[in-house]
Amino acid sequence: MSKPTIMVNLNRCYGCWTCAVSCKVGNGLPDDTWRITVRTLGNGAGIDRPYGQWPKLKMSWMPVYGENCIMCAHRTKDGDAPFCTKNCPSKALIFGDLDDPASEASLALEELRKKGCQVFELPEWEKSRKGIVYAKR
Ligand code: SF4
Ligand code: SF4
Repeated sequence: MSKPTIMVNLNRCYGCWTCAVSCKVGNGLPDDTWRITVRTLGNGAGIDRPYGQWPKLKMSWMPVYGENCIMCAHRTKDGDAPFCTKNCPSKALIFGDLDDPASEASLALEELRKKGCQVFELPEWEKSRKGIVYAKR
């Protein structure tokens, strides 16, 4: 696999944190260590705090991969998916090779582009893992 990545379909993420917990449990991480967290895009006050005035409240979520994410290389070398992508209940996370146009990640990204989604990576100052690709309507 020449360009392994995780494609994050933000349209599907509903902020359940299963990705983060499955990474922690699967990789046996200590309590204070996370390799992926889920940011609430709301009023900035914390997890699951919406912005706006009742009844017009709004929030969405963004999984953020830390620089310590190893992209589950110990699993993917044997063809298994990373814990986070495998356990995401909404299929918002797709692991694959972006250099292979037939990979699941490439096909999903192409489909989202056709639907008019914006495709981007997080900026340098986020200090997140490089190579994670996001798509959002
Ligand atoms: S990416 Fe999937 S598992 Fe993670 S918070 Fe979003 S819906 Fe839940
Ligand atoms: S790819 Fe593996 S190490 Fe990285 S966040 Fe997902 S489960 Fe954790």
